[in-house]
Amino acid sequence: MQNINLNDRIPAKGFAVFSKTDTFKPFAFSRHPVGANDILIEILYAGICHSDIHSARSEWKEGIYPMVPGHEIAGRVVAVGAKVTKFKVGDYAGVGCMVNSCGECEACKKSQEQFCQKKQTIFTYDCLDCFHDNEPTYGGYSNNIVVSEKFAINVPKDAPLDKVAPLLCAGITTYAPLKFSNVKAGDKVAVAGFGGLGSMAVKYAIKMGAEVYVFARNELKKQDALDMGVSGFYTSTRGVKERFDLIISTIPTAYDVHSYLNLLKFGGEMAIVGLPPRECSPKIDTMSLVFDAGKKVYGSLIGGIAQTQEMLDFSLKHKIYPEIEVISVEQINEAYEKLTNGKARFRYVIDMKTLQ
Ligand code: NDP
Ligand code: ZN
Repeated sequence: MQNINLNDRIPAKGFAVFSKTDTFKPFAFSRHPVGANDILIEILYAGICHSDIHSARSEWKEGIYPMVPGHEIAGRVVAVGAKVTKFKVGDYAGVGCMVNSCGECEACKKSQEQFCQKKQTIFTYDCLDCFHDNEPTYGGYSNNIVVSEKFAINVPKDAPLDKVAPLLCAGITTYAPLKFSNVKAGDKVAVAGFGGLGSMAVKYAIKMGAEVYVFARNELKKQDALDMGVSGFYTSTRGVKERFDLIISTIPTAYDVHSYLNLLKFGGEMAIVGLPPRECSPKIDTMSLVFDAGKKVYGSLIGGIAQTQEMLDFSLKHKIYPEIEVISVEQINEAYEKLTNGKARFRYVIDMKTLQ
């Protein structure tokens, strides 16, 4: 990337879908100029999160097209604005699900930017950026991104960038509820859905000293779970005798929440992070909830920027990395198919060098 004029729009190229039924195709676009507090990152790796699939297929809301998904971004800083202090050219940086927020409300001041009370959380893609003339945001399946430095995560030079990318969403989304529920040594933690997020939840919970159990829908990845150190692996909630302090659901399809609530200890908690399509979003039955009381259910949305940095530092320190398969941009469509047909293992990570 030579001769960058920070005051000009930044040319970019990526892979986009042009409708909810489309497959990925090359797409040329541009990004807003690099403001005083912004950095320009050359993207080297981008993870494929199941949220990308829900978004590209308009499963939560009508998407903004053309859509360039990708919110698990790792790369190299190639330009910095005049007031940038956290980064210099040549540093490694990560970007997750957000690129900006108001910075002034109570949530932003507490570094819970995903809950910006002015509703100005700017998500990395499929969002209109109110700080830049409401232009649509484009994500990480591309060669570069311009982001406010506050929303970029410092990544040390010796970190394995391909494995760092998925931490920016799968990592923080599972680390945050484990912290929120104060998981400690000896707790029994169950993880429902054993894919990109689920496998990270398992690894973090084990590192925190918990006894960990997995609920999947078949035994294909049982050996992987055992190798990670889980104490039990189930393919159904029926007949399970174990009772849990915390259940984290990462399930992206229709399921019965109560079948999991039944497995909580008295005072146990269920954290819901999986976001099935709106048309089959699981419901909670108030009668069952009230008469089987003494349990807590909560939702959890990624995590704030300060906690994302904490998660990254924790992951690198303990060498907790995702299980990844590095693919080329040409393989994105195939990866989407595998992720929806139960043929995927854990995380696909796109090598952006393959974007010509
Ligand atoms: P993956 O596709 O990588 O993993 C999902 C896993 O769930 C797969 O292993 C799948 O099994 C399994 N699964 C599907 N249905 C069931 C079921 N009924 N019972 C048990 N397991 C099941 O997805 P991700 O981990 O990337 O994402 C998971 C969910 O989390 C998505 O809905 C995503 O949108 C959401 N998400 C939420 C975030 C938040 O902030 N709250 C942030 C990021 C993601 P199989 O291999 O057989 O398909
Ligand atoms: Zn994600």
